[in-house]
Amino acid sequence: MRLTRYFLPVLKETPSEAQIVSHRLMLRAGMIKQSSAGIYSWLPLGFKVLKNIENIVHEEQVRAGHIPLLMPTLQSADLWKESGRYDDYGEEMLRIQDRHGRDMLYGPTNEELITDIFRSHISSYKDLPLTLYHIQWKFRDERRPRFGVMRGREFLMKDGYNFDLTKEDALHAYNRHLVSYLRTYERMGLQAIPMRADGGPIGGDYTHEFLVLAETGESEVFYDSAVTDLSFGDRDIDYDDVDQCQGVLEEFTTKYARTDETHDENLFNEVPEERRKVARGIEVGQIFYFGTKYSEAMGAKVQGPDGKPVAVHMGSHGIGVSRLLGAIIEASHDDKGIIWPEGVTPFHVGIVNLKQGDHEADAACESLCRQIEGLGLEPLYDDRNERAGGKFATMDLIGLPWRITIGPRGLKNGVVELTSRRSGASEELTPEAALAKIASIYAKS
Ligand code: ATP
Ligand code: MG
Repeated sequence: MRLTRYFLPVLKETPSEAQIVSHRLMLRAGMIKQSSAGIYSWLPLGFKVLKNIENIVHEEQVRAGHIPLLMPTLQSADLWKESGRYDDYGEEMLRIQDRHGRDMLYGPTNEELITDIFRSHISSYKDLPLTLYHIQWKFRDERRPRFGVMRGREFLMKDGYNFDLTKEDALHAYNRHLVSYLRTYERMGLQAIPMRADGGPIGGDYTHEFLVLAETGESEVFYDSAVTDLSFGDRDIDYDDVDQCQGVLEEFTTKYARTDETHDENLFNEVPEERRKVARGIEVGQIFYFGTKYSEAMGAKVQGPDGKPVAVHMGSHGIGVSRLLGAIIEASHDDKGIIWPEGVTPFHVGIVNLKQGDHEADAACESLCRQIEGLGLEPLYDDRNERAGGKFATMDLIGLPWRITIGPRGLKNGVVELTSRRSGASEELTPEAALAKIASIYAKS
């Protein structure tokens, strides 16, 4: 993509309304534009990252054996009256009437809709286990929308729902989700720590929140620093092997890690003092097992092996897809701008032409762009008639992890410069060697 043909409305000034760094950088890098409180348009650069995050979430869900579908944003209030949550949900629910005066709402979550789909089509235990999920916009009329996409009113969430015959099966689904979430966040370059959380109104003893450590996080967290040494890495998991999932689960959940809601000072004190950490975190996901709460209330039953009807055991599982952009930036930036992890970056390589209009430099940049595209990667070519300093500042702000700088002087010696955004280190290489290095970096991520 040529920058002169792209739409990248970067801001020179730091927007005064933004209180935290991720919000400031998303506005400055031209990724989002607020349309009203807590509601944003996703400009091209922001939209690209959002899609990348969404894709990783999809891939890891499908890998875990979960099935994608798509439910609507607008829901009839009838189902919510059936479950009892129409009255319980309170002011966060946006209630609407259609032209016939029928009560509708913009879904804040989808337990009711999915349970209705399930009970309409599934009647035998033989069709279980089943996990369905979607990635869809939600609306919650938050009292204090703030921090940009971090606490929006309209936000994108992956929400999944498992249906199982027994509690044991449902807990296996729970474990599978825990493992797939760990893998999902790691692919985005994030360390998200599973922490024992409070079931809240959904209830149940089994719930974990995934938190990314960041000073600007809204939750207070207490953990054994040994959890931050764990990483999922590239280990292969067979999701059908219950024991294997439970093994990973134990490894990641037996160390002390809790939010303030479930914090237990006595247990915490058993952790060696030097490893006891109190910090702040951003909640990027949560998983629940809640048994038969919705299936009882809404009659989601199947015929069991003995021919008798049984209410299915369910859980729900959410990832804050749009919030993740903010969380990644909070975890990965410097004073010049964003530093995207390779897994989510909007463009793979930035190309800076030091002398626009110089025949050789222009030709070298264009040829390199084509070769990068040939690798299945996307370059962003800054072909503006601007000083090098301005071009570097833009590249640093928008955070592409790799930059190739091309100018007449280097070309005379047959070299270009490859720079890592994260370390700032540069090396001079032939264009072929730079290309090979880029190819190998992205082959790994
Ligand atoms: P919070 O405690 O932050 O209000 P929640 O626990 O109510 O969130 P869940 O119902 O667990 O949220 O939703 C799943 C995920 O959706 C959360 O882990 C979070 O990442 C994301 N999320 C929730 N509310 C918002 C919001 N207002 N804006 C952006 N993302 C959100
Ligand atoms: Mg939550």
